[in-house]
Amino acid sequence: MRAVVKAAPGVGHVELREVQEPTPGPGQVLIAVKAAGICGTDLHIWHDEFPTTPPVVMGHEVAGEVVAVGADVAKVRPGDVVTSETYFHLCGACRYCRSGRPNLCPERRSIGSAVDGGFAELVVVPERNVRLLPPGLDPFAGALTEPLACVVHGALELPKLAPGDVAIVAGPGAIGLLTLQVAKAAGATVVVLGTAADTRRLDLARALGADAALDIGQMEARPFVDALTDGLGADIVYECSGAGPSALGLLGLVRRGGQYAQIGLFGKPVSWDLDQVCYKELSVTGSNASVPSAWDTALRLLGSGQVRTRELVSDVYPLDGWEDAFGRFERREGVKLVLAPTG
Ligand SMILES: [Zn+2]
Ligand SMILES: [Zn+2]
Repeated sequence: MRAVVKAAPGVGHVELREVQEPTPGPGQVLIAVKAAGICGTDLHIWHDEFPTTPPVVMGHEVAGEVVAVGADVAKVRPGDVVTSETYFHLCGACRYCRSGRPNLCPERRSIGSAVDGGFAELVVVPERNVRLLPPGLDPFAGALTEPLACVVHGALELPKLAPGDVAIVAGPGAIGLLTLQVAKAAGATVVVLGTAADTRRLDLARALGADAALDIGQMEARPFVDALTDGLGADIVYECSGAGPSALGLLGLVRRGGQYAQIGLFGKPVSWDLDQVCYKELSVTGSNASVPSAWDTALRLLGSGQVRTRELVSDVYPLDGWEDAFGRFERREGVKLVLAPTG
């Protein structure tokens, strides 16, 4: 079968090539991949900014149909329409594995970087990772369960969000637009901030329920936030852009005693004003991927329609369009780009 493979260590070395079709071992499930989302991590893998064990099939945001199961598979059946959690291997015994935080397991090995992933017609995953999609949810919407679970973890599970809170989401990419919807579902008033390059994404933010979506090049955010909060500032700010100036700017928009949640990744150290964390007594959280409890919440939010992911899918590419898709994503065109390996 054909697959998009990180073929060797170093910058680049991503190619479409023929690889052996996988077969499910005991306790494993074979999925025909209908949709596989392209993520910032995939660009980092392309540029050698994220650890991998090549040669490895990329892709960790998958949805599709189960086509075969190995021995000792108890619940999953061929024909099930599913998505999959990403941790192929965990130690199962460390403090983190035993406390519901497998994302922090030192032996965690994920599909798409350490183990073959979903930029291929077929992917094998352990049965414990398989999640049924809510009825009627199409695989393109379902492939976004993984980033949604990451957002649930980073936006709801680690910081505390209460109904009536005023939240700011900086960066209206796919992660920001999911954060917006999760914060709305939790009862917050949400202001999304972007730049002049984000006009269409800010329109989408409004369509997805943002109380306001501002181009900060055109409009100062502070007076706007002051008007919503009696001059106090936002209760919580979510940095979803991974841009240094955004991280710094949010310190001026969050209220004293408020919360700062880092969800985007910068890919390099950035300069930040930690004095403000002291002066304002901020609670700062950062999140790393997802945990099983966040998948439960993500699937409920998708099933109830409180979070809509299909509208985020701006472009669908066949496997051999991967390079165009990666390039377009890198130029920040579109919102969520998805590969359709089985056509
Ligand atoms: Zn991802
Ligand atoms: Zn562990």
